[in-house]
Amino acid sequence: MSRPVRASVNRQALRHNLSVVRQAAPQSHVWSVVKANAYGHGIARVWQALESTDGFALLNLEEAILLREQGWKKPILLLEGFFHADDLKLIDRYRLTTSVHSNWQIKALATAQLSAPVDVYLKMNSGMNRLGFRPEQVHNAWQKLRALPGVGEITLMAHFADADNPEGVAGPLQRIEQAAEGLNCPRSLANSAATLWHPLTHYDWVRPGIVLYGASPSGRWQDIAGTGLQPAMTLSSEIIGVQQLTAGDGVGYGYRYRASGAQRIGIVACGYADGYPRHAPTGTPVSVGGVRTRTLGTVSMDMMMIDLEPCPQAGIGTAVELWGNDVKIDDVAAAAGTVGYELMCALAPRVPVEVI
Ligand SMILES: *Cc1c(COP(=O)(O)O)cnc(C)c1O
Repeated sequence: MSRPVRASVNRQALRHNLSVVRQAAPQSHVWSVVKANAYGHGIARVWQALESTDGFALLNLEEAILLREQGWKKPILLLEGFFHADDLKLIDRYRLTTSVHSNWQIKALATAQLSAPVDVYLKMNSGMNRLGFRPEQVHNAWQKLRALPGVGEITLMAHFADADNPEGVAGPLQRIEQAAEGLNCPRSLANSAATLWHPLTHYDWVRPGIVLYGASPSGRWQDIAGTGLQPAMTLSSEIIGVQQLTAGDGVGYGYRYRASGAQRIGIVACGYADGYPRHAPTGTPVSVGGVRTRTLGTVSMDMMMIDLEPCPQAGIGTAVELWGNDVKIDDVAAAAGTVGYELMCALAPRVPVEVI
């Protein structure tokens, strides 16, 4: 028998989450963001569950080509654009939409040999100071692109740094309105947080990522608990050992937990080499047969220890959910000082994944 740790990816949850996005932004087209191997879920595993989307957005040419080879015919957006002028050959061949965030990319488009015009997302820096043209450069960049025969439709694109804050989009939105004045072009601005919480940002295409996988853009599950979003990934394992502690006994590396009295603990076959965060402290929630309990001590590479006092019926072979429906990935992430995004993306290749 193989080691019991496994992840499962629920296609029905993905489909349902896309429908939640449709309800939140009924007037907009949807780019389903599947970068980072579909946030750790496996792009080849999940894209068909999302095939009613209007397009897929990602970063790597390899991932884009994989989608084309598997039969996806509708749009694909390269969120960071192309990294080298040579990439335009593949962008042309596979009919990809590319973001353009720098002048060198406009120059590359001007000299590229293209079989048909390429659709472009003109990326504006609306305040995050990551990629994009500054507001006052947008008109100029737009005009340069518009003059190129190799450029098809131009969409104005921006990204919010703080859309999980109720006041977080007002400033950037104002900068975008100003920069776009007089440009009669479609817009794509909204990530998951803006899609859920800022309808004024929706415009022509929204770009949700994390909500498709059923976790919260704010990192707090309570913020999406009322939306009907469903966790798409479950990480589970089994208890492979039991120890009976007495007062003063230490647990795990550095004895970071010590029993204050008699206590039964379970040893779970899952550790940081499986993608479970080593920073998760004592008290991080886990579910044992539907009963919520907690981790104890430092997470090891291949194992972790949990408190079995709330679940005396549990023993060797009992199933443990590390995250999924009972324990939200957001709650594990919050305990470990991170966000669900990072945990999903860090699921280790050694964990077998089943699709349900
Ligand atoms: C990752 C990303 C998104 C999706 O962000 P979520 O917070 O996961 O919804 C949207 N737009 C761009 C440019 C991105 O890089």
